Amino acid sequence: MFFFDLSEPLIGTFLVSTFLKKPFPETIFGTYVENYQSNLNEVAHGGFLMAYDNNNIFAKILREEIPCKKIYEDDFVLSFYDINPQKKIHALVIPKGKFIDLDDFAINASNDEIVGLIKGINIVAKKLNISVDTGKGYRALANISEYGGQEVPHLHFHLFGGEKVGKMVQ
Ligand code: 5GP
Repeated sequence: MFFFDLSEPLIGTFLVSTFLKKPFPETIFGTYVENYQSNLNEVAHGGFLMAYDNNNIFAKILREEIPCKKIYEDDFVLSFYDINPQKKIHALVIPKGKFIDLDDFAINASNDEIVGLIKGINIVAKKLNISVDTGKGYRALANISEYGGQEVPHLHFHLFGGEKVGKMVQ
């Protein structure tokens, strides 16, 4: 079996270059190297090298560099209203850790972080009176990567409620 040693900088750079569709020389000699070093963290992701973008919009919200309409926060999650609501209630719940998507989270999050996110979704649903205890139910949805239609590369669950949510896939 062929094995990549990811600790070897040249191979690491080549893999990042390939994944991000940037020319290899540019990632070594060009400005992209600076961006890569300052903004991206490598994470193991299904055997490939993936990069968490520290400048994605939710990372900036977590660092309080841009504002949000906060609903709830604890050690593991932050929840706030979606800026472009698709239903009467449209909340987002994000883990505080740097996870690109649900696959990254499932592989790399600690058990406490996983429990914290699932519990956090339930706490937020209760707060918004859309849980089965306090309301009439809701939809929790996570878009994952390209075919899932994910736009912001920090794991997030959408909570839709306050009215009938409609067809699962339109
Ligand atoms: P995705 O398509 O990645 O699953 O969903 C990203 C969501 O983030 C979209 O529903 C979009 O409206 C929301 N969003 C994008 N930028 C911001 C922002 O700056 N603030 C808030 N609150 N939501 C945002």
